[in-house]
Amino acid sequence: MSNNYNLQEIINLFEKSNNIVVFTGAGISTNCGIPDFRGANGLYSFVAKKYNLPFPEAVFEINYFKENPKPFFDLSKEMVSAEIKPSLAHKFIAFLEEKCKISLVMTQNIDMLHQKAGNKKVVECHGTYSTATCLNCRQKYSLLNIEESLKKGEVPYCKCGGIIKPDIVFFGEQLPDNFFSAYRNPPKTDLLLVMGSSLTVQPAANFALSLAEKHKSILINFEKTYYDNMFTYVINEDIDIFCKKIWDNIKI
Ligand SMILES: [Zn+2]
Repeated sequence: MSNNYNLQEIINLFEKSNNIVVFTGAGISTNCGIPDFRGANGLYSFVAKKYNLPFPEAVFEINYFKENPKPFFDLSKEMVSAEIKPSLAHKFIAFLEEKCKISLVMTQNIDMLHQKAGNKKVVECHGTYSTATCLNCRQKYSLLNIEESLKKGEVPYCKCGGIIKPDIVFFGEQLPDNFFSAYRNPPKTDLLLVMGSSLTVQPAANFALSLAEKHKSILINFEKTYYDNMFTYVINEDIDIFCKKIWDNIKI
C-alpha cells in the first residue's frame, strides 16, 4: 500500500481543476452491494455454477447468449435492482459535476450508479441497460419497455419473437460510438481521476492511460496496478474513505 500522499496538496488540485475527467471501474461500486464480478464468490461464478456454464464469462458471450439468455437476465436482475444505491464516491463525483468541475465521466460499469447519483456527462463504455435491441429485427427498445421482465429476471421477447438484448457490450462486440468519439477527441482535461479500475480491460483502459500520459492524474484503487508509475498520485485505500476526506475539506 502506498499512501504517502499529502492530502492538502490533493485537495488544492481538486479546487483548482475545472475540467476533471473521471474513469471508473468495478471497485467504485463494491460498497453498493454489487458482488464483485470476478472473485471466487463473485457474480460470474455464482451465475456460472447455477447454470452449469462452461466458464463464468460465458454469461457475456454472444453465441452462448443466443442459445441460453437466462444466465444473463438472472444477473441483470441484480444490476437493475432499485436496492443498489450510489456510494459516497458516486455522490462526490455528482457533487463535482454540480460545481461545474467535471468534463466527462467514463465508466466501465453497467450499474447506472453515476446517473442515479446525478451525473449527466456519463459515457458507459461497456454499454447500457437504458436501451435495448431485438437480436432478430433490430427494433430499438428503451429500459421502460423491458424493465418489468428485467426486474423479474425473465427474458424479454420482441413481437417478432426475437430476444431483446440490453445494449451491454458482450465479449467480441464493438464498444459504443460515444466511447470512440471521446477516445479520438478527449474533452478538455486538467485532471484525470481513475477510481476502482486496475486498467486491464482494453480498449477502455487506453482512454485513461493516454490521458495519464499528458495530464495530472490520481489513481485510487484498493490494490496496486501495473500502471501505477504513470500517475501523479496513487492511492491504495477504500475509495469512499478517500473521497470523504476530500469532500469534508474542499472549498468550492
Ligand atoms: Zn424483433
